[in-house]
Amino acid sequence: MATGLTPPTDPKAARRFWGHVFLNYPPREVVDAPEFPPRPDLSQEIDWAPYVESKDARLARILWDCPTQKLRQYLDSLSQHPFPRPDDADTRAIKHTEGLALEVYELLLLEHMYPLAESEWESKWTQMGMDQAKWPFNDILEVWGHMPHTGPVLIRGEDVLTSRKLTVAVLRQELRDRNQDHAGTSQVLRQRLYDYERKTLTLFSRSDLSHWRISEGKPRKRRINPGDDLNPLDMYTWAIQLSPYNPTYWVSRAYCHYQQAFFDLAIGDAYRAQLLCEVLVDARCRNRQPGLYPRIWHAISQHILAGMNSETGTVPPEVEKLRQPNGVNYFIPTLRKALHNIISLSLAALQAREDCKVMEKYLPQRVVMPDRDRRPFERRHEVMEAYFEETHSEKEAKKLWFHESRAGRVSTERLYPYESSDKHRTGQDFLDELNQRLFRNNQALPWRRCKVKSVDRLKPAKDSATALGVFATENIKEGQMIFVEEPAMRGHLSVSRLPWDRCEDSARTPRCDNCYKELDAATPEVDQERIRRIKAGNDVAACECVLLDGKEAIPLSYCAPGSGPKTCSEIARKLYHFRACGKNWKWLHDAMRPCMVQWRDGSHHFTHTNEAHGTLLSLLLREVFDITLERRERFRDPNLMAHEIDELLILEDKLDRTDEKVAFPFTLAANIQVPFDILMQLGVDIFGDLSFDTWVIQIVLRKLLINAIPWANVPVLRMSKEPVKKIVRRKEIDNPEKQREIIAERESFEGYDPSFRALYLYPGLSLFNHACPEKHNAEWGFDFQEVPNRVLVWAKEDIPEGKEILISYTESPLTERGMLRQLGRQCACDAEHEDESSDEDDAPQQRSQYPPLSAAPRVTTPDTSADPSQGPSTRALGAQTKAIRSQMDGADDDREEFAAREQHLLPEATEAEQQFLMELEHHMATRKRPYRGEWEETGDYKRRQFAS
Ligand SMILES: [Zn+2]
Ligand SMILES: [Zn+2]
Ligand SMILES: [Zn+2]
Repeated sequence: MATGLTPPTDPKAARRFWGHVFLNYPPREVVDAPEFPPRPDLSQEIDWAPYVESKDARLARILWDCPTQKLRQYLDSLSQHPFPRPDDADTRAIKHTEGLALEVYELLLLEHMYPLAESEWESKWTQMGMDQAKWPFNDILEVWGHMPHTGPVLIRGEDVLTSRKLTVAVLRQELRDRNQDHAGTSQVLRQRLYDYERKTLTLFSRSDLSHWRISEGKPRKRRINPGDDLNPLDMYTWAIQLSPYNPTYWVSRAYCHYQQAFFDLAIGDAYRAQLLCEVLVDARCRNRQPGLYPRIWHAISQHILAGMNSETGTVPPEVEKLRQPNGVNYFIPTLRKALHNIISLSLAALQAREDCKVMEKYLPQRVVMPDRDRRPFERRHEVMEAYFEETHSEKEAKKLWFHESRAGRVSTERLYPYESSDKHRTGQDFLDELNQRLFRNNQALPWRRCKVKSVDRLKPAKDSATALGVFATENIKEGQMIFVEEPAMRGHLSVSRLPWDRCEDSARTPRCDNCYKELDAATPEVDQERIRRIKAGNDVAACECVLLDGKEAIPLSYCAPGSGPKTCSEIARKLYHFRACGKNWKWLHDAMRPCMVQWRDGSHHFTHTNEAHGTLLSLLLREVFDITLERRERFRDPNLMAHEIDELLILEDKLDRTDEKVAFPFTLAANIQVPFDILMQLGVDIFGDLSFDTWVIQIVLRKLLINAIPWANVPVLRMSKEPVKKIVRRKEIDNPEKQREIIAERESFEGYDPSFRALYLYPGLSLFNHACPEKHNAEWGFDFQEVPNRVLVWAKEDIPEGKEILISYTESPLTERGMLRQLGRQCACDAEHEDESSDEDDAPQQRSQYPPLSAAPRVTTPDTSADPSQGPSTRALGAQTKAIRSQMDGADDDREEFAAREQHLLPEATEAEQQFLMELEHHMATRKRPYRGEWEETGDYKRRQFAS
């Protein structure tokens, strides 16, 4: 017996005994781990778009009909169908109810066994005649006469008919950009622009990047001008814009993405269709979010009614069906079958094995289906194992980290359909602006010792590849500080512990959510007066998140007010903590960490961990969305895209990536489900607001993946040279019995903890290129003594003016695989790089391979001391700062003593250096960062913006 207990011999007593054992020692399988991470319980967060008007619904129907008829033609041209319809009761019952996804579903059934191969999509697309499928925009406008959604026409964010900011020069430029006549008075020009824009379709808006001096105001691909043609994807996207709650359009667009081998986008669309269908068919979902259910019903019925021929007045059988008791719900089964086949096939194409298996079961387990519809799932199931074996390299699997163990791979060779390719980071205007902000005008940086330039030594060189690097602008002496930065995004994951766990555990100590400093465990009493102040946003040391404790939520704590001009809480609420404030994000933390259940006797145990879903970037992603939404309002820039906010814009993107072998991890939870849920909790309508479409989310995640930096366990780093906690390949959650033993013996549950407790994004630091150890000339590390999540970069050796400053992201040279993962390309340094084949399967993993930057400070001395083993220099620098500070304001004894102990390692700080350090403190206290928001307030932005 697993319990090691002997049951009594008396049968009655034995029965009681086993009942007791079962109820008190739950076996591992008793509580099934859910297949996907938890979802938030949302109710009033979102203002849904208005009900679709019937004229918009009619246009959407036409837009959908055109490409769908193309699919029908292709289908009819095929001689045989592997799943012919038998003439039986089943078939007759569903007559006239398949219209919403008939073509898509039939085509999927034709090739239901294996997913489309990425290399084949173009020939398939051509074979279907879809490559030639184009519809003149003018023809569609002619039928409809005007653009739907009337409202002011905005140019550069201003109303074109009235705004005084649009001068004649600006108006002329805008007309020239559109190849239009640009002569005339201001009034004429305005009207001409207005008329032109009225006939223009904006499928996707674009960020106004003029403050980065990037292609000011020039229309990008996402606009359809008079005279242009629309392709199938444009048609479906436009239909979605007109009627976002109709799952039909989402399924059709998902199929379009799938056939073009954008499998991640296909899943994003099919998943949204699934959410809509579930509201219709699942009574538990129906009333959760007020207003959504009737909108979906209305959108579908409008679509069906739009199929009536107004000239003949004939009533199609679909409309008859609609009037029967089940109404719209007659039409849902085909949609669901189609969308689930798309999700399954796309997951298989991405080799997301686990997710694929789960989703294959989803529909057959919930719905009784006729044979014809059930068989594709069954037959695919039979071959899928073999398919995965075929495409799956055993060696690759072994090397996966635990947090990526479920992930499939998305190739990055092609741009997404609406991704723009007109930003080039190497443009001189852009570089000037970047240097101005990051170094010359950055108030948070006391030193002006470097600048960003383009580098062209990256290999392998592709023509379009661009890269930036940081170069010394003066002779920098060994040990001198070069760069300092506080994080632009924070992902502070709260660890979960069983309530009975008595293990001494530093992970439980609360930390400031801004600077990550450890706080006193005792939280101050919150009296009524303070609660009132906090709710009104008037408490300088707290936000509403401290009041969340009661709802099992995760309260946020901040440092108490200090000598600085602003408290940590004020900084948070000013820079990055907006709509997320005061909301319960427990589900999001649970989506990234071990989860527990409560058993019968009140005991708790961990059942599973969601870390395997690869959700480690979710908290950073939330910050990106939150900041984007805030800046849209604050800067009246409604079209700002999440991947083009300042912090992400300056980082590499697809255009800079040079290696086809780079692939990004993909899971249904991390790349689709959780991002959509975050957006909805922040109040974004994921159906009506295409500015957060799937491709935008994927680009943001890629940028974060390449640039996120893990923060290491402070005590380990500060006190010893022990390696940072390893990023592991496997993590087992023990059975409940074992967990009781762990508690009884006061052992730690640390082994279950997620691999990364805190992840940060430092856009400035990310611009420093990597060189493998001993080829680098600068060190970097955290400022543990002062602001634990502040990073510092200093010279490891003398760096002459003009030389590139290179830091090492890792402790040992990168292997080829490591390079692709961490840098998104090959390493350009001239160190020996181990070939992949020479890696032993069981060789210890390189430490902190990914996310890229190792958090461990390197062992160097910032002084001229002969012995290089003396103390990590971050520590030393921190101590030095501390010493000065403690003279100024009298720090606590403990710290002072520590500082004194370290002091002998350092040379006498010169007066100039002391000056620098004091300046650093001063500058950091004001924390004016180079991104929009902070930087705008310096007045510099305003001056330049309105001087011209
Ligand atoms: Zn703080
Ligand atoms: Zn808050
Ligand atoms: Zn290297």
